Amino acid sequence: MPWIKGESCVGCGVCVESCPVGAISLENGVAVIDMSNCIRCGICHDICPNDAVMHDSEKIPDEVNANITKTKEFMSACAKYLGDAKEKQKCLNRMIKYFNKEKIIIEKTLEKLQILKKK
Ligand code: SF4
Ligand code: SF4
Repeated sequence: MPWIKGESCVGCGVCVESCPVGAISLENGVAVIDMSNCIRCGICHDICPNDAVMHDSEKIPDEVNANITKTKEFMSACAKYLGDAKEKQKCLNRMIKYFNKEKIIIEKTLEKLQILKKK
């Protein structure tokens, strides 16, 4: 999924004009993508003269850090609201289970997408 690096966008509007589904608009002189309409065609990424449209993979480190932060917050909340320090570790185990489930969903999705590719 594409995303706009706000500090690199000069608001030229080229991507707005080029998006086939009208998913990009300018807000305060910066391009914004409505992800609910984006069909992931990649045109905006290829056409931006300022390299302001980034690939999703460039967000991986931030997303990993956000997951760790969220897990730590849940662990602290479990200890606080359930009144037992041991709840922290139980919460951690539940989050590990949760992310494992997410991993399985992604793996199974990728398997099915590969089958689609062969058709
Ligand atoms: S083409 Fe690039 S610089 Fe121009 S508005 Fe879109 S994202 Fe910003
Ligand atoms: S990827 Fe395609 S559909 Fe999505 S915002 Fe860019 S140009 Fe529009």
